[in-house]
Amino acid sequence: MRQKIAILGSTGSIGRSTLDVASAMESEFEVVALSAHRKIDLLAEQTRRFKPRYVAITDGVPLDAFKALVPEFGGRCLQGAQSLVELATLDEVDIVVCAVVGAAGLPAALAAASKGRRLAIANKEPLVIAGRLLTEAAKKSGTALLPIDSEHSAVFQALQAGRPDEVKRIILTASGGPFRNASRQEMNNAGVTEALAHPTWSMGPKITVDSATMMNKALEVIEAVWLFGLSPDKIDVLIHPESVVHSMVEFIDGSIMAQLGTPDMKVPIQYALTWPKRAKGLAQGLALEKLKQLNFQAPDPDKFRSLVLGFQVAQTAGSAPVVFNAANEAAVSAFLEGRIRLGRIVELIEDCLNAHSVRQDLTLDGLLEIDAWARRYVLTRLGQNKTAHMAKV
Ligand code: MG
Repeated sequence: MRQKIAILGSTGSIGRSTLDVASAMESEFEVVALSAHRKIDLLAEQTRRFKPRYVAITDGVPLDAFKALVPEFGGRCLQGAQSLVELATLDEVDIVVCAVVGAAGLPAALAAASKGRRLAIANKEPLVIAGRLLTEAAKKSGTALLPIDSEHSAVFQALQAGRPDEVKRIILTASGGPFRNASRQEMNNAGVTEALAHPTWSMGPKITVDSATMMNKALEVIEAVWLFGLSPDKIDVLIHPESVVHSMVEFIDGSIMAQLGTPDMKVPIQYALTWPKRAKGLAQGLALEKLKQLNFQAPDPDKFRSLVLGFQVAQTAGSAPVVFNAANEAAVSAFLEGRIRLGRIVELIEDCLNAHSVRQDLTLDGLLEIDAWARRYVLTRLGQNKTAHMAKV
C-alpha cells in the first residue's frame, strides 16, 4: 500500500523538491492532491506527470484557464483559500505536506493535525502563529508533526539519541546570509538584489530575505519552542557559514549530537515522509575530506536585531509571535517591491510590536484578526493604507 500525499504549495521550491522525492520513491508514495497559488502552467505540468485526483488553485485564476492547459485531467478542481483545508482533510490522504508561503497554510495545517494526518511542515508560520493550537490538535488526535525546515529536521534527528528530559539545549545554526561580513550600515541600506544573493541555500524570495535579516532564525526559535516543547532559554543560535551542520542537540552529559549533510532540502523532506525509517535518497553525499574547516560564531545582537526580538517574542508568546510574523511578511513584501531598504523591515516589526497589547489563549479567529491588524499597521506606516482602521487589537 503506497502512502498518499497531498502537497499544499506544489509549485514552490519545497513543493517541487517534494515531488522530486515522491517521484524517486514511486513505489512508496502516491501524490493524490496538489495546490498552487497562481502558477498554473507549472501546476498543469505537474498534473500531467503525477496524475493527482485533486488540484486546487488558491488565487483568483479561473479554473477554466487551468482546465484548458490539461484537458485530459479527470479529477476534481477546487478553488480559493478554503480549498487547502479540503485537500488537507481528504479521507484518502495519509500525509499532508504544508509548503504554502506565509500564514495562508495555517487553517489547513490545523485541520490536518486535528484530523490525525501526518503533517510535514515546511513553512514556519503555522507553528509561529498558532504553535499552541497546532501542537494541542496533534496531541489530541495522536498524530505527528514532522519538521521539513532543515534546522528542525536536524534537531528532530539528533533528538533520537536521548530522552526529552536529557536535553540540555538545542543549537540552531544559521548561515549568516549574504551580509554576514557586511557592516550593520551596509546591511541596513541593502536593496533586493544584494539580499537575494544567498551564499549557500537556494530558496524562494521571501525566505531568502528573512535569511538576510536573520528574521528566519528568529522565527525558527519560536518554531522550535513549539515543535520540541522547549523554553526559549534552552535554545541557542550560532552562525555557521558552511551550512554543513544543520543544527545540534546538547544533552545533559555534555554530548552534542549534530546532523550534517549537503544543503539540500530533499533530505529533510524525505525524512519527514519516511520517518521513523530512512531510505536511499537523492541528495549528494557529503565529502567530509574536502571540508577544510567548519566555523561557528555567535551572532552580533546589535547587527541582527530581529534575533533579539525573536527570543523576546518567544518568551512573551500569546499573540506576540503573530504580530512579529505578520509585520515581517508585510514589510518583506514592501522590500521585494523595492519600496523600502532592508533595515526598515525590522524597524517596522519593532514598531508594530510596540503598538500591540499582547493577549494569551486566543482562538484561531482571534489570532488571524491580530495577524490582519499587524499587516494593516505596517501598510499604514508605509503610507499605503491611510484609511485603515488603526484601533489597537
Ligand atoms: Mg530553516
